[in-house]
Amino acid sequence: MAKPVVAIVGRPNVGKSTMFNRLVGRSAAIVSRMAGTTRDRNTSETEWGEHLFILVDTGGLEIFPEDDMWRQVRAQIETAIEDADVIIMMVDVREGVTPDDVDVAQLLRPVDQPIILAAMMAEVIKHFPDGTEFPEPEADLRVAIVGRPNVGKSQLLNIITGENRSIVSDVPGTTRDMIDTLIEVEDKTVLLIDTAGIRRRGKIGTGVEKYSVIRSVRAIDRADVAILLMDASEPATAQDSHIASYILDSYKGGVLAVNKWDLAGELNVNREDVMAVVGDKFRFASYAPLRFISALTGQGVNQLLDTALAVHRQWTKSLPRYDLRRTVMNAVAEHPPVAQKGRSLRIYNVSQDQAGPPTFTFYVNHSDTLHFSYQRYLENRLREVYDFHGSPLKMRFRSRRE
Ligand code: GDP
Repeated sequence: MAKPVVAIVGRPNVGKSTMFNRLVGRSAAIVSRMAGTTRDRNTSETEWGEHLFILVDTGGLEIFPEDDMWRQVRAQIETAIEDADVIIMMVDVREGVTPDDVDVAQLLRPVDQPIILAAMMAEVIKHFPDGTEFPEPEADLRVAIVGRPNVGKSQLLNIITGENRSIVSDVPGTTRDMIDTLIEVEDKTVLLIDTAGIRRRGKIGTGVEKYSVIRSVRAIDRADVAILLMDASEPATAQDSHIASYILDSYKGGVLAVNKWDLAGELNVNREDVMAVVGDKFRFASYAPLRFISALTGQGVNQLLDTALAVHRQWTKSLPRYDLRRTVMNAVAEHPPVAQKGRSLRIYNVSQDQAGPPTFTFYVNHSDTLHFSYQRYLENRLREVYDFHGSPLKMRFRSRRE
């Protein structure tokens, strides 16, 4: 079921990110267990009681990084209005309602969604859609094409659906105003999740560029595999990297695609340069396939779909239990863990608990003696032996006493 999206808005310095961290902190452990990564987050899957939802701190989105505050705030609110299910508007109780708060409230006036002033989680949850209205359509795999505005998402969808594949049908998306498309590729039914979207215009003032982070996040959440589309003229921007992080953090299969490659000559760029930039900027670039396409001419588009299918196969793969155990034990024997805090990690067993995403539990003596570099070593070994191209691996370490 699609998770509701809750957006926090408010003038700068009212405490949006503190609130975000408080809410996310409670569930941070399940959100990301990537070893050795600490960085600012502004979009996260969050748990409150039995409710799962996606929380967005719109203040952290850096929509117009070096720009004036009001353009920022307007853009945040625009983003929230476009795509959130519930909006939390924050004010600072110590300062009371300031003139800036009043301006924020003015911008929120035309909004349809419920707006909660200063959050009470019980109140927020009351407004979640019940999920029965738009059931998820059946499909063998779900693919989200995500990326910044104007990278060519609509163009790509058009060329894919225009190519006369055996099933092409529109299905209502699970959220308002979205139309997903069902196609057939290599006898698999593939649901292409609508991110380009039918734009809902005219809700708020003019001149604010559309920014589609929430829409991308929502689409990624529903997908098995996300294709992150970038523009050949400017690959791997900060916004691209933000979306890439969300793909990784939500453990979805990922494919990187550089679009508008028909312009490569004109732009004077080559594959090696792009690969270097992408490799430098994206944490998951080391295992996500990178494709060069033109949604205009169709060049590389079939290969891109084949790649998405191949990544899905990796993502849903189940390893034979004994084989997995042997691989891990051999890796440990070849390169035993170094002592941490005077104790050494010992690994007794390993199992794959789940596929899609591939999820492994390592049974160890003391999980707190695990060093992230050792986790990375084990992950690299699993990739060397079993591939998992394009798929993040979820690795849990459980102490004997747990
Ligand atoms: P979206 O906002 O990501 O859905 O982007 P669009 O599909 O609307 O494309 C934005 C612009 O880029 C349009 O003018 C397209 O014609 C153009 N475009 C999209 N794909 C390509 C491509 O492969 N090559 C070139 N040269 N232009 C493209």
